[in-house]
Amino acid sequence: MLIFNNKADLNKHLQSQLKENFTIGFVPTMGALHQGHLSLLMKSLENNSITVISIFVNPTQFNNPEDLKKYPRTLESDVEKIKTISNKIIVYAPSVEDIYEGNTKSEHYNFDGLENQMEGKFRPGHFDGVGTVVKRLFEIVKPTNAYFGEKDFQQLQIVKKLVEKEKISVKIIGCPIFREENGLAMSSRNERLSKEERNKAAIIYKTINQAKALFGTKSAKEVTEFVTKTFLNHPEFELEYFEIANQDTLLTCIRKNKNKKYRAFIAVFVNKIRLIDTISLN
Ligand code: AMP
Repeated sequence: MLIFNNKADLNKHLQSQLKENFTIGFVPTMGALHQGHLSLLMKSLENNSITVISIFVNPTQFNNPEDLKKYPRTLESDVEKIKTISNKIIVYAPSVEDIYEGNTKSEHYNFDGLENQMEGKFRPGHFDGVGTVVKRLFEIVKPTNAYFGEKDFQQLQIVKKLVEKEKISVKIIGCPIFREENGLAMSSRNERLSKEERNKAAIIYKTINQAKALFGTKSAKEVTEFVTKTFLNHPEFELEYFEIANQDTLLTCIRKNKNKKYRAFIAVFVNKIRLIDTISLN
């Protein structure tokens, strides 16, 4: 399996592969791979001549230094997991220097307000970091198609906006959320939960499903109150936000409009570990 640690070698290899109708599928990740990441890789493998995965814990998208420090880094086992689906996948696992060339700072972006909602509100600078690294990775890999999970739905919308605004020639493909048996959305951060916490965290998906059912007859405000109350009854969880928002603009739903599509978004702390999830309400 080919593993590159620097962009020059990766570029040289990708250039050598160029043929007519050649397509590059790209899956950017921060590693500590799970089935969710692998499902993105499978989709890319099905539809492209070559699949590249990047494994890079991007420092500029972390607003919390402790979170960055504790983020799992498991390159060896990640490579083993990738091998189980194909040994033709190309791994790009760069250093911070290879991506940032001595200037570990974000660009500043205007994503037409998408960046000011939810994750943007609670993680200042997060989407500038995401935009910066995704743009650099796209410049390096030059993918035809890039695969992003709906688990980070706001990120998916922001990446689409980045591509539109920066006129980057790549198709962004959103992929469904992969879940554990109890419904908990798979996440690299789940590794940091104890077995008991992992079991209990099933309440996140259960609650957003209940919210979805309620949204059929209740207002967004009433549904939000229900979710807030549910988590107050489970003090081992700290609800950071629950929001019902327009799927396209990500603006909070004040009054339902039956021609618009809505989604519920949630962020919850379990023992200082931050978990997010989302569900379509239509
Ligand atoms: P991360 O390594 O957390 O930055 O995630 C890399 C990519 O995998 C992002 O596009 C995520 O949205 C996606 N992803 C993470 N968790 C899941 C999941 N449970 N199901 C589907 N995609 C996911």
